[in-house]
Amino acid sequence: MSGGLDLEALKERNGRPCEACGAPLLFVRGPRGRFIPLDASPARQVYRVQLDLAGEPIAEPVEAFFVSHFSTCPEPGRFSRRPPERAS
Ligand SMILES: [Zn+2]
Repeated sequence: MSGGLDLEALKERNGRPCEACGAPLLFVRGPRGRFIPLDASPARQVYRVQLDLAGEPIAEPVEAFFVSHFSTCPEPGRFSRRPPERAS
């Protein structure tokens, strides 16, 4: 579990293996409408550090973060940017 995100449902809906290395990926639409291939496993737990009202730093766990597969694919030369489904 990571925040309100149902990772299993997301994998079922947007999951597809990388054509180059076979790693499980999630293709999720980015802010510009393009699909972004993400490693299906969330990155390590990350924290946002903020100051509380007294000026004390507080580490708050953040919802799941995902790493772009462009930076982790062992065969970036063969990497395909195709989205999981194409209108045909
Ligand atoms: Zn790959």
